[in-house]
Amino acid sequence: PTPLPSLIRKKRDGERLEDAEIRSFVRGVTEGTAQQGQIGAMLMAIRLRGMDAGETLALTLAMASSGRTLAWPPAWHGLLVDKHSTGGVGDKVSLALAPALAACGCKVPMISGRGLGHTGGTLDKLEAIPGFRVSQSPEEMRHILARVGCCIVGQSAELAPADRVLYGLRDVTATVDSLPLITASILSKKAAERLWALVLDVKFGAAALCPTRESARELARSLVRPRHPRDPCPLSPHTVAVPALSACRPSRAIPAVPAPVPVRCSCPCSCPRPRPRLCVSPRVPSLPALPACCLCLCLLSLCGMAAGAEQGRERLARALDDGSALGTFEAMLGAQGVPPDTARGLCAGTPAQRRRLLGEAKVCEELPAPQE
Ligand code: URA
Repeated sequence: PTPLPSLIRKKRDGERLEDAEIRSFVRGVTEGTAQQGQIGAMLMAIRLRGMDAGETLALTLAMASSGRTLAWPPAWHGLLVDKHSTGGVGDKVSLALAPALAACGCKVPMISGRGLGHTGGTLDKLEAIPGFRVSQSPEEMRHILARVGCCIVGQSAELAPADRVLYGLRDVTATVDSLPLITASILSKKAAERLWALVLDVKFGAAALCPTRESARELARSLVRPRHPRDPCPLSPHTVAVPALSACRPSRAIPAVPAPVPVRCSCPCSCPRPRPRLCVSPRVPSLPALPACCLCLCLLSLCGMAAGAEQGRERLARALDDGSALGTFEAMLGAQGVPPDTARGLCAGTPAQRRRLLGEAKVCEELPAPQE
């Protein structure tokens, strides 16, 4: 293999890397033979020089096959779905979406990430729940999916190990906002999940990794582009990317949004009424006005669980209203290590009880919403 310094020099000087060279870099990252400084230098070279679509695909596939790919029972074919967000502040879609989809009959083996740059990470939020274990083996994931229908786990030595290393180093080398690195990071995790359908929630705005709608469109295009039918580790057959305005503004709130806050906000999202409603049609039950619901509807339709939009809305509204989505969230917490009393308190307790279970931040400030 070409020595790593030569590969770094090549990319630094704006040259294209061959597939074998990219595989060799990723092997060095995964096997631990590449030094941290070398990995950081390569990340910066990629951040500054970019990668074309072919290089991005090669990086994605090399990272996807750096660990194990998940294997599922044939009966789940067509039911395996997931969503991934490109990152924002206060984003808590995954916590409500995974259980809601599982309550509708889907299987959601979500491999998520920690905070990156100024954005919040789903894993950090979940770890604010006492006892929650984000580290699960492929066998444990399969077991949880069979019993509960969804799980949310992190990269590990077995699952997307190359992303685990690169993700952490990007965070400390100012190389987060790179289109090929974001694309390969997200899709390598999702490819390892062996999905049927995937929705990518591409956030833009001052609090997101993509500052403008145009940059989000460019990232969305990059995320749906990499496909390679002959590859042994194909990406999910049905992938949709949805550019969406990040609701949260950074301002001075950024360093102060502690991980438990989105968790406290998310638990009631899955609760039966009363909650804010979005009337979608006079003939079907209304849904909460949440991005999570729109993304759920998209996935229900992609995996054929709903023949049309109305059927999808009915199915989702039922899961939210009859408490099965919330019950699935509670079961997922239990299956991932949260003591039953804590899981119960979070799902059925009062706001004060939830606050006690998750712990108070040292500094609390109420920011009243100017309107409903
Ligand atoms: N989410 C990821 O998993 N990776 C990124 O690079 C950005 C968001």
